[in-house]
Amino acid sequence: MTRRRAPVSPPVALTIAGSDSGGGAGIQADLKTMEAHGVFGTSVVTAVTAQNTLGVEGSYALPIEEIDAQYSAVQTDFDLGAVKTGMLATAPVIDLVADRLTDAGAPVVVDPVMVAASGDRLLDPDAEAAYEDLIAEATLVTPNVDEATVLTGIEPTDRDTAREAGEALVGMGADAALVKGGHVGRDGNTVTDTLVVDEEDGLATRTFEHPRIDTDATHGSGCTLSSAIAAHLAHGETLPFAVEAGTAFMERAVRYSLDVGNGPGAVHHLA
Ligand code: PLP
Repeated sequence: MTRRRAPVSPPVALTIAGSDSGGGAGIQADLKTMEAHGVFGTSVVTAVTAQNTLGVEGSYALPIEEIDAQYSAVQTDFDLGAVKTGMLATAPVIDLVADRLTDAGAPVVVDPVMVAASGDRLLDPDAEAAYEDLIAEATLVTPNVDEATVLTGIEPTDRDTAREAGEALVGMGADAALVKGGHVGRDGNTVTDTLVVDEEDGLATRTFEHPRIDTDATHGSGCTLSSAIAAHLAHGETLPFAVEAGTAFMERAVRYSLDVGNGPGAVHHLA
């Protein structure tokens, strides 16, 4: 008797990130987002946080050998269509991931997670410099205003400085940078994301505007955006399309956020 193989083979993506026991961000948000996009999500857990909608109570980095063993198990079995990185916690983990993703053979989206929305640190302060090698492997790096400032020394306060920060990240070796948010729109009701792409004939800049949604339930929005972009890339879509569609998915996830837990809630991964 021959064993029947399943007839459907979806794109496969990998998230290398931390676990959020509260389910709103981290690995949990990444896998929900990939599922909502018809992408089979796999994971390498770098750290485990004890966390809920009120904040982070503890954070425990996994031993480097165990992180590497997870990566090896996934990488040797699956044909990965995209990889995303989130919370990497320490400099040795960032170094390991940068090393393993050298010539990953798939698009790599780097979300340089440093601080949770609650203000809790998710990255050792001495690990920020280690990001340089990982950014060099990135197809796209997706910092928020604070992360862009730490990584480039340029604070994106308006369209020009957001573009300059994006250009600096491309100068560090990323193929593209998406500098998220900030009050750079015409008024306080608009959020503008700035995409800088290294194209054959030079650097191209595009901006994506979306309405600022009046809610505190944004926990998990950064993870959701980078995973949605990775999911679109795993489907073989172009980077500008993946960014536009990923941004729209994230906006819906925040707009229809869920009232769960006793804190501000969590974003909603609507398919
Ligand atoms: N990764 C983990 C494990 C987290 O706990 C958090 C936030 O708490 C993040 C990433 C970043 O979350 P956000 O998507 O809100 O930037």
